[in-house]
Amino acid sequence: MRLTFLGTSAGMPTTERNVTALALAIDDAKQWYLVDCGEGTQHQLLRCRYTLNNLKAIFITHVHGDHMYGLPGLITSASMQGRKAPLIICAPDGVQQFVEAALHYSDVTQLPFRIEFIQSDQSGFCYQDNQASVTAHELSHRVPSFAYRLVEKTLSTQLNIEQLNTLGVPRGKLWGLLQKGQTIILEDGRQINPEQVMQPPPTSRIAVIAGDNDKPGLLIDALQGAHLLVHEATLTDAALQKAGPVWMHSSARMVAEAAETSGVPNLILTHFSGRYQRSPSAGPNSIDALKAEAESFYSGNLGLASDLSAWTVDRSGQLIASQS
Ligand SMILES: [Zn+2]
Repeated sequence: MRLTFLGTSAGMPTTERNVTALALAIDDAKQWYLVDCGEGTQHQLLRCRYTLNNLKAIFITHVHGDHMYGLPGLITSASMQGRKAPLIICAPDGVQQFVEAALHYSDVTQLPFRIEFIQSDQSGFCYQDNQASVTAHELSHRVPSFAYRLVEKTLSTQLNIEQLNTLGVPRGKLWGLLQKGQTIILEDGRQINPEQVMQPPPTSRIAVIAGDNDKPGLLIDALQGAHLLVHEATLTDAALQKAGPVWMHSSARMVAEAAETSGVPNLILTHFSGRYQRSPSAGPNSIDALKAEAESFYSGNLGLASDLSAWTVDRSGQLIASQS
């Protein structure tokens, strides 16, 4: 599972960071998913491996502009590039209306592909395709906001040689048929089903990608069995106390504590206030201040996202810095 951060700033872009968007793919699969689409997301995409043609589905966490103003431009660029495949957009109420109005008032009368909107704020929402299933989990913010929990679909591809020998299936063509999922009949009339001779499928990797939220503890259930949490940490605790609860965001401490309680082994923080700079000389306004705060409450593997930073979650559930 590979994650590429296309934007990591809260509210407004800065010279170092664009507003929120995250590209997610199952390892080297061509098809990929986009979680949130702040303004300028299509510009960031030009700088990494993902193309609009291979974009399978978009998941929007909430209606705030820094998470969805990039949609009309991204959709019309896909159109100019001749995309034909339907584009699925899973989003809470308001996003479809926003996109349709933007397209209508900018005189986009026809697209060469269909947009399929799925309302992710409906109970029982579950997106499914051949690679993954995705559910939505309600958070606490100034507008309805959601976390998406993506569960990878895995298939068994390896034969259990020991079992084949025990059952007396002769090596060769019959093994190939079983591996392709076909049932076979042996010369003595016994029927062998693929399920009898395949290794169990690899463990599904699970990532929880959260939208804006001031109660990270709401994710405890969604984090059961998850390998990775991606969550906003807009401010340090001290800065959040000063700003007051009005914006309904989380501090690095709040997210780190919830991640620690849940036992999730990997945590990536993102969506940082524009005050935080890369340079360590910025002191309390340095991104290092957020990192140090999170580290003192979370003992797992911690990452702080920057634009175009990429990570993979490998088969063993390890988080590794990767190429965008
Ligand atoms: Zn935001």
